[in-house]
Amino acid sequence: MAHVIVDTCTKDQLCVDACPNGSIHPTSDDAGFENEPQMYINPEECIDCGACISVCPTNSIYPAEELPEDKAEFVAKNAAYFTK
Ligand code: SF4
Repeated sequence: MAHVIVDTCTKDQLCVDACPNGSIHPTSDDAGFENEPQMYINPEECIDCGACISVCPTNSIYPAEELPEDKAEFVAKNAAYFTK
């Protein structure tokens, strides 16, 4: 299970610097950054290290198994960004 970003994300990008392997997109260097409402974690790349959680100022990142029930849809939403 990967970590997951939910819709309280404000795209501050602090998690991008914390992630050891670039699993979080879009960054401001990626095409379409302005058009995405939030950032997403690639479930194929995330190693579940948890480094992103503590740097998120809006507490928008969860281990998938700890997602609040009303945010369950964001497992699929994070994965979908990387299959576009
Ligand atoms: S848990 Fe680790 S690998 Fe996964 S997105 Fe966060 S910082 Fe990156």
